Amino acid sequence: MRTVITGGAGFVGSHLCERFLAEGDEVLCVDNLLTGHRRNIVHLMNDPKFQFIEHNISEPLQVDGPVDNVLHFASPASPADYLAHPIPTLKVGALGTHNALGLAKAKDARFLLASTSEVYGDPEIHPQREDYWGNVNPIGPRGCYDEAKRFAEAITMAYHRYHAVKTRIVRIFNTYGPRMRLNDGRVLPAFMGQVLRDESLTVFGKGDQTRSFCYVTDLVDGIYRLLHADFSEPVNIGNPSELTVLELAKEIIAMVPTTKSTIIYNPLPQDDPKRRRPDITRAQELLSWNPTIDRAEGLKRTLEYFRTVV
Ligand code: NAD
Ligand code: UDP
Repeated sequence: MRTVITGGAGFVGSHLCERFLAEGDEVLCVDNLLTGHRRNIVHLMNDPKFQFIEHNISEPLQVDGPVDNVLHFASPASPADYLAHPIPTLKVGALGTHNALGLAKAKDARFLLASTSEVYGDPEIHPQREDYWGNVNPIGPRGCYDEAKRFAEAITMAYHRYHAVKTRIVRIFNTYGPRMRLNDGRVLPAFMGQVLRDESLTVFGKGDQTRSFCYVTDLVDGIYRLLHADFSEPVNIGNPSELTVLELAKEIIAMVPTTKSTIIYNPLPQDDPKRRRPDITRAQELLSWNPTIDRAEGLKRTLEYFRTVV
């Protein structure tokens, strides 16, 4: 199999590259290094089955030879990143998805879109099921990301219905693990960096908003299973174990007994979703998938990684 992974030099993408290489695939990693980095894939560079193509997927991409799978993961993903790059975010969700679908269609390849729980916006139903249409503010600061991904889902379904491309859509919930950027602004690297530097943990709002965190190898396993299933509707992949942001801050402080860190409260960003937890019934029934790494273990592994880069 020959698999193209856009965004392959990012956090999730680099773990995907590893998994597909381990399965024996040839991997073509396409990335413009906007929010990713060569260090995430440097250990793969000597593998003859791995190729890095520095390219902005919002521009058309020509690939010589056959392609069996196109996984489209290119996009800024943390709120700080997409707020800093709103137009590239909209372009990669729209033009980038169009180009990646065009490549899949030309090569008669399977296509998998990295969508997000953000398509549900600030959800009015809880937990979130795939048949919920969401509550998104299109003109708010997060709109550049949420609407780009909603457009990406729409064009993916259009290519499926109109061009009969074999498409898959994964709606990814908050995922964490090694190779997240310490300064990407997401809550987990923020808190871990702060606790290791003896700084105060910056809880936004009262910290009573909830999230549900999935360890990256569990996500990758769900994606691998979905790609090989015959199912074009969206599938949630995430860990349903939900906690408040304040509880997360306390858990992370407790992991480093020597830390002098305390908690400070900063303003809550606009349109910050109040609650988020995936209903994973579809993934369980369709893919026989369940998360296997609990938060204690996942946080431990991630903290070990951040100790090496802080
Ligand atoms: P990341 O920022 O680490 O990775 C994104 C990668 O895409 C980076 O390497 C970046 O350089 C690349 N990229 C961005 N624009 C590009 C372009 N125009 N052309 C080529 N490459 C481009 O983020 P991540 O957390 O690994 O997220 C990967 C994907 O998963 C994204 O599509 C994101 O929306 C989705 N996702 C992630 C999460 C999560 O919790 N990590 C949750 C929901 C969805
Ligand atoms: N958050 C926080 N402190 C930080 C960063 C984030 O309290 O330093 C909160 C943020 O307001 C949100 C949650 O943590 O409620 C998760 O934020 P993140 O940016 O990781 O991802 P989101 O789920 O909002 O996309």
